[in-house]
Amino acid sequence: MNKIKNMILSFGVTWLGVIFAGQVVANEPVKWPNGAKAAISLAYDDALDSQLDNAIPALNKYGFKGSFYVKLASPVIKQRFDEWRAIAQQGHELGNHSLFHPCSASLPGREWVTEDADLDNYSVAKMVAEVELANTFLHAIDGQTQRTFTTPCGDLKAGGKDYIGQIKSEFVGIKSMFGSEPQPVNELNVKQTRVWAPTGNSAQELIDFAKQAAKMGTLGSYTFHGVGGDYLAVSAEAHNQLLAYLAAHKDQYWVDSFINISRYMAQQQHKAQGE
Ligand SMILES: [Zn+2]
Repeated sequence: MNKIKNMILSFGVTWLGVIFAGQVVANEPVKWPNGAKAAISLAYDDALDSQLDNAIPALNKYGFKGSFYVKLASPVIKQRFDEWRAIAQQGHELGNHSLFHPCSASLPGREWVTEDADLDNYSVAKMVAEVELANTFLHAIDGQTQRTFTTPCGDLKAGGKDYIGQIKSEFVGIKSMFGSEPQPVNELNVKQTRVWAPTGNSAQELIDFAKQAAKMGTLGSYTFHGVGGDYLAVSAEAHNQLLAYLAAHKDQYWVDSFINISRYMAQQQHKAQGE
């Protein structure tokens, strides 16, 4: 009887240790390279013309690397294939955003979701297959083997069941939540990061988000759609002013592709775990 009691006790203590160790890691604040106060990820979703026309020249002007979460079925991929390949060669990231960009039509404000791209009609297996095929397609474009993912519409369920758990191991980093505030540094989890998707915001509002991230010592993650065109847009001028601000404060902001930031965060976490 005692033996069993001891076994239960020691198992309990071990388990507590695991939980405790997990908490220590989660609360260990990330220290950004070269004393930067914040890491900044500039991401552009859905493969839109205005991104190639306006965002890319602005990024290149300041030497920043962006992350482009392309919808591979977009006609803009087919029509401007060589340009997408060229920006990848310049060091910009092509990220996985699925092939068809399925979203749950049952959620509020989703009247625009077509029946064939309704994530509620998908199975988990179908969504996993689509995301894996998108990785293969992206590899054919840029030759890369490591990838990050942004969930279409921020939806986490296919056919009402979680699909993120099934694809987590395929990615270095995942953007899966939306919010207008940067994610607190002690809540950062590279496979579950929060983004802000500005729409119609002023340059000052875009800059204030970076300042907020610096104050919090955390990751400031922007997810743009249209830049000076297309939908959910910010003006090319506001976008340009944000980049000019970040370039003028390079000592405070580490601006890089999300895959580079993700690799760094994963490395920091391993260090904290003593691996
Ligand atoms: Zn999208």
